[in-house]
Amino acid sequence: MDKIKIPKATAKRLPLYYRYLLILSEEGKSKVSSTELSEAVQVDSASIRRDFSYFGALGKRGYGYDVKNLLMFFKKILNQDTLTNVALVGVGNLGRALLNYNFKRSNNIRISCAFDINKEITGRILSGVPVYDMDDLKKQLSDQQISIAILTVPSSAAQHTTDEMVEAGIKGIMNFTPIRLSAPASVRVQNVDLATELQTLIYFLNSDKAKDNEF
Ligand code: ATP
Repeated sequence: MDKIKIPKATAKRLPLYYRYLLILSEEGKSKVSSTELSEAVQVDSASIRRDFSYFGALGKRGYGYDVKNLLMFFKKILNQDTLTNVALVGVGNLGRALLNYNFKRSNNIRISCAFDINKEITGRILSGVPVYDMDDLKKQLSDQQISIAILTVPSSAAQHTTDEMVEAGIKGIMNFTPIRLSAPASVRVQNVDLATELQTLIYFLNSDKAKDNEF
């Protein structure tokens, strides 16, 4: 399939669409309207139509979208028909939780290897995933053709570990540390800062409460 250039906001919504379509398909539904889709994924229907227009005319007026076709289409775009192996670096509390999490169930992603410096963990298999020493990073990533890593080391080790991962050929990093990593432009970094997200939620709740009290 040709690579389609789509806006980042659209790309971010694709997994949402995909998940919902999967549910519809499992329920045996053959078509879905943009209004129905909109309510389910909480994206306004104008955006949905615009998003879908990037992929060509996929919907028919008055009929809605064909679930099977859409699903096949998104599956290809999202690479859901191939299993993607990713690495996890830093097997602490958060790292272990992610090792236990079954990404594969809905996303065809699996953590196939983990890395740590702690000799008490390395050489063992945790939640079915082998934990290697950081010295084996380059070899394992290249043997298993892995280009994506989840980073769950302590903040103090985040940048240094990133440099090691980049050197070992990693092209995408899911960064669970609060550190803003510096990496070459060719490497994509997605930041998932749980503490900041929670803080933001608390902030919004508090400001909602303050607004309520104004009235
Ligand atoms: P968290 O809940 O954040 O995982 P934790 O207290 O379980 O915290 P941390 O001190 O954050 O553990 O360390 C996470 C893991 O990262 C540990 O297993 C630690 O051995 C590992 N680690 C520390 N430094 C490095 C490094 N330079 N390279 C790889 N792994 C590291």
